[in-house]
Amino acid sequence: MKSRCPECGYIANSIPPTHKCPECGSFSHDWLIYDWATFASIKRRHLSYNVAIICLALAGLLTALSVGSSSVLPWMLALLLIPAMVSGWRCRRQLRDPSKYQGHKAGIVFPWFSGFGGL
Ligand SMILES: [Zn+2]
Repeated sequence: MKSRCPECGYIANSIPPTHKCPECGSFSHDWLIYDWATFASIKRRHLSYNVAIICLALAGLLTALSVGSSSVLPWMLALLLIPAMVSGWRCRRQLRDPSKYQGHKAGIVFPWFSGFGGL
């Protein structure tokens, strides 16, 4: 798996065992994973989660509005709309522009709603 030095952008075939960049000589524990295909597939998966959440929240909201339900569940679902839309929009923007890709952290496999960050 290719890796990218967070300091100078040097791309190595693997993280040097000492974590020392052969290009700029800095030690870093934050080497980025440099693998567009993996990144894109993770982002596409998150995008589909976000679309599903948005559809679910909207469907719940519309149902609640049309039947006049007093249940709080649809409103709680509606609160998910905002992060889902922000995250979905970010995923789309990142997927649209591979040239802006500069490596990613291992933590991005977690979608925002997992509670591990990853927005
Ligand atoms: Zn470097």
